Amino acid sequence: MRCEICNECVFGEDGITVLGIGAAHVACFEMEKNIRREFGNINISRLNDEDFNDLYDMVMAERNVRASNFEEKSIELF
Ligand SMILES: [Zn+2]
Repeated sequence: MRCEICNECVFGEDGITVLGIGAAHVACFEMEKNIRREFGNINISRLNDEDFNDLYDMVMAERNVRASNFEEKSIELF
């Protein structure tokens, strides 16, 4: 079996089977994943500007909610 990313042979624990890619080294897959900027099932680099901005707004909104929850909890302690 060959790694679909670097084309070298894949053996045992170094290898994984990636859905949509095939066999790959764990290290190659991790590197590929970072280059592709995937999170969960979302390939962030493939989003159009509108979807990317929606995602960004959602992340920032969630961040604000978490920050305010943290502040409320901190206040309750005193
Ligand atoms: Zn590889």
